[in-house]
Amino acid sequence: MDPLQLSTLTIDSGNITEPLNRITNELTELADGLAIVESFSHSYAVETAEGLCCFDASGAGSGPAVVDALRSWSTTPISTLVYTHGHADHIGGSFAFAKDAAERGHQPLSVFAHENVEARMDRYIETNGWNVAINQRQFGGVRSEMGLELGEGLSRFLPKSTLRPTESFSSSQVKHFGDTMVEFRHARGETDDHLWAYLPKERWLFSGDFIIWNYPNAGNPQKVQRYALEWAHALRAMAEQAPTLLLPAHGLPIEGEKRIAMVLDEMATTLENLVRDVVALMNEGSTLDEILHTVRVAPEVLEKPYLRPLYDEPEFVVRNIWRLYGGWYDGAPSRLKPAPDAVLGAEIATLVGGATVLAERAVALCETDLRLACHLADLAAWADPTSATVHEARAAVYHQRRRSELSLMAKGIFTSAARESETVFKSEK
Ligand SMILES: [Zn+2]
Repeated sequence: MDPLQLSTLTIDSGNITEPLNRITNELTELADGLAIVESFSHSYAVETAEGLCCFDASGAGSGPAVVDALRSWSTTPISTLVYTHGHADHIGGSFAFAKDAAERGHQPLSVFAHENVEARMDRYIETNGWNVAINQRQFGGVRSEMGLELGEGLSRFLPKSTLRPTESFSSSQVKHFGDTMVEFRHARGETDDHLWAYLPKERWLFSGDFIIWNYPNAGNPQKVQRYALEWAHALRAMAEQAPTLLLPAHGLPIEGEKRIAMVLDEMATTLENLVRDVVALMNEGSTLDEILHTVRVAPEVLEKPYLRPLYDEPEFVVRNIWRLYGGWYDGAPSRLKPAPDAVLGAEIATLVGGATVLAERAVALCETDLRLACHLADLAAWADPTSATVHEARAAVYHQRRRSELSLMAKGIFTSAARESETVFKSEK
């Protein structure tokens, strides 16, 4: 179905009839001179008197298909590639854009981004091993319908040939491409290098990952700090422009001033409320434990087609709010300078009569309390890290935990825990 048609139908009915985060590499013309290619991070192209201005290059794996799709629509030179931010699923495909320009004998394209993108790209080189590992874990055996922050099992998190920005800005900038005017604004949200862009005459707003048709991805457990409240402020600033077409980098484009205003308001409100609730408890002296098990997002909010917690989830956002305003100490003094996990596990196993007792109890607890079951499964494995019996139980516990979770991030980590145990008991057989 046409993405705008599907978007309007889904928002207005509240019913999800088909997948909303589509990775088809298919192009749709959304308006005169505006096209989307739906992919791992979408790519948008705007026709201007100075050539095509494209927003996001998609990932390393999808970039070539995205360029092919764009070229089926227009053979005009691409003059500018805008990175909404420096995540691999938005910039990894840039080499395909460069290759296209070279093959067609076009001028090399200029790459426009926020000034922090450079530092991110440097960091990805320095922490390549870590980023490859966490991506394997994040998507651990879970086939992603979303493809956000794509890893693709690459040995390099970001291809060496990824284009560096040729021009950057700090807080805001206006650019003219012929008579097409684009206002760029920096805001922190998912990342510290994010921009959103507005074309006031057309009333088109390119929102990058500030809107992903999932609960805002402000909590990712394995990534650097994210900024929930600034994210909400950015959504409010977007709403002030009164766009009539909202063009996010994942999920569906949204049409209609009122519809867009409603979506932006609901997304901003849930983030503002979450920050308010967490900070209120922090100010009262609550521990992270108390806050995690108290603060909730209303279930009806999480049922909205554009706020489902299928990728990230509010509990992880709560942790990032805590980390932003508080630091990493969680308020439990034993965890300030803890004993090694193996020592703690061994001590408790000795007290209860062995690691297998812990493992059996972990399996039994799956019926009633999966959170607690996982604690006991970990303690058992720390106490007896080579026991096939213990790891068989632990794998079963984590597979069950994974099935009970909604978010891809939780599912990925729990699946990878199960796999870790499987390597122990399968190698014994
Ligand atoms: Zn993204």
